[in-house]
Amino acid sequence: MNSSKPFVEINYNTDLQKICDPFIKESGVSVFVKREDLNHPLLSGNKYHKLKYNLDEAEKKGYKTLLTFGGAYSNHIYATAAAGKIFGLKTIGIIRGEEHLPLNPTLSFAKECGMRLFYLNRKSYRKKHEDEIINLLKDKFGDFYLIPEGGTNELAVKGCSEIINTIDIDFDYICCPCGTGGTLAGLAAGIHSVFGNADNKKKAIGFSVLKGAGFLQENIRALLNSYLNKESGNWQINLDYHFGGYAKINRVLIDFINNFQSENNIPLEPVYTGKMMFGIYDLVKKGFFSKGKTIIALHTGGLQGLPGLSEKIKKLSLRTE
Ligand SMILES: *Cc1c(COP(=O)(O)O)cnc(C)c1O
Repeated sequence: MNSSKPFVEINYNTDLQKICDPFIKESGVSVFVKREDLNHPLLSGNKYHKLKYNLDEAEKKGYKTLLTFGGAYSNHIYATAAAGKIFGLKTIGIIRGEEHLPLNPTLSFAKECGMRLFYLNRKSYRKKHEDEIINLLKDKFGDFYLIPEGGTNELAVKGCSEIINTIDIDFDYICCPCGTGGTLAGLAAGIHSVFGNADNKKKAIGFSVLKGAGFLQENIRALLNSYLNKESGNWQINLDYHFGGYAKINRVLIDFINNFQSENNIPLEPVYTGKMMFGIYDLVKKGFFSKGKTIIALHTGGLQGLPGLSEKIKKLSLRTE
């Protein structure tokens, strides 16, 4: 990576911002937001951490092209396209579903970065990690370094585990939203590596943004088993705050996000971080965290997706219920 440094350095010391709104103040717990949304203007949030060792690996093995998968609003597609541009690698984005023109803000950014976009119908997309489709893509695009959907693999777990090293206060819980669960697996692995078994009280808690995501349990366990050679036993995933499914939003969520932003001056988006924060506040309300505990909410970024959601949000905000 030395030959082609990012044009803006990654900020490894993002703020740990204390939440001081009246609800949290009166609750007896402390909540901090780790502002990874501010770690880089283009590779923001968890996506740089997930890509970092994959970029190293691609370079080490001499690959010139990255290929990855995502939906039309994918923050991972956005980040991979930006990483390709920054590190001088070609990028190919395999997008679920049909092309819609004009391109939404996420895909038009990806294209501006030089990413080649290729659309797979939903049926083929479901089989995207199978040999049949991979071979088809190799015939079409030549050799490439494959990054799975959402960027989740063992190297992503390694990258995300390092987030724990950057937290310089004592804490009891660290929370993140979950799409594929790679980030949560990384946080659990990081706690395990930094604090070992001596500290079996620190926990990573994930909030699924997908409906019916019981399968994440198994995926995360498998990721941890292959990365640590064992289960770390220091994590859990909450399945109750998906708001109807991926990218499904409602008025309650939008009101919460707007209120949170005006009280704390921290922007959230409704696909990932808004759902996590709503979940944290609800668990605080229900007394899930005992008094005196310190909770860190990882701001995983994703704010780039807001322009693409603005119509949807505006409609919800105008509707009087
Ligand atoms: C991609 C993304 C996630 C999901 O991360 P996983 O490792 O797939 O669970 C969470 N938050 C934001 C903002 C994201 O863009």
